Amino acid sequence: SKLFGRGIFSFYDEKLDKELAERSILTGELRKAIDEEQFKLFYQPQFASDGTTLKGYEALLRWVHPTLGLQMPDKFIPLAEETGLIVPLGKWVLHTACAQAASWPEELSVAVNLSAVQLRQQDLVEDVARALDVSGLSAYRLELEITESMLMSNTTQITQTLGRLSAMGVRIAMDDFGTGYSSMAYLWRFPFDKLKIDRAFTESIAVDSKVDAVVKSIISLAHSLQMQVNAEGIETMDQLEALRSLECDEVQGYMLGRPVPEDQLVHKRESKDAG
Ligand code: C2E
Ligand code: CA
Ligand code: CA
Ligand code: CA
Repeated sequence: SKLFGRGIFSFYDEKLDKELAERSILTGELRKAIDEEQFKLFYQPQFASDGTTLKGYEALLRWVHPTLGLQMPDKFIPLAEETGLIVPLGKWVLHTACAQAASWPEELSVAVNLSAVQLRQQDLVEDVARALDVSGLSAYRLELEITESMLMSNTTQITQTLGRLSAMGVRIAMDDFGTGYSSMAYLWRFPFDKLKIDRAFTESIAVDSKVDAVVKSIISLAHSLQMQVNAEGIETMDQLEALRSLECDEVQGYMLGRPVPEDQLVHKRESKDAG
């Protein structure tokens, strides 16, 4: 990968040794990056399914590497999770997202992705409360996105954590719904406000009528459980129209808006233009 292309350890023959060395370099760089705050949040807009009413943004993490430039999360989040560095990094994300969202128009929310490692931290609830307090962001404007894979272990502790967050007024969304083995089993056990239908479904909507039928039933199930539904990865007008006719509540995807740095958010530019 691009991050590893240094050649420093090429004297090792063993692939494993090389990988270990690369990992330790990357871990060191990541630790330094956290100290020096070499990260940036990009924001992708979320719209009502009319495709025009802006509801909020999802925060997506980028590493602005000093020599390699912008790095996507799949390059460094897995390692950050394995090494525990996701804990300080995740705190930075949470605090930064709340601080930035506090300056947006009041009707807009911010969605923050949580890692399983963060969800297992004893001080997560306190930290969320602190981020809201310091930023002045109202709890209902913060949405935390978690994936079902996080729910499989230590159910009691996670139920408590999600219950406390929910009681604070923070919204909880189940991310990547439908991609795991047992999505259904978690629906009624945890206080979800929203389901996010994974792009794997969205990409076959309006192409494969069986997928439309599955999505239709997911949406109706979610609605009967008082949950909203967001469909991710909208790339075509056909997908948008199909989802609207299936009564999906919210849409997100490249066709509607790519993730952009905070200073490029359109609602800001408009409010600046207005005076
Ligand atoms: P995710 O939470 O499922 O985020 C959606 C991903 O799909 C984002 O990739 C987004 O840029 C991309 N995407 C959005 N619309 C479209 C579309 O129309 N077409 C296609 N092909 N892709 C689309 P990104 O930013 O690379 O993030 C990847 C994953 O990294 C995220 O998946 C999330 O699991 C993780 N991640 C990102 N930021 C954070 C963070 O702050 N904390 C944690 N723990 N994980 C994060
Ligand atoms: Ca997400
Ligand atoms: Ca997702
Ligand atoms: Ca994903």
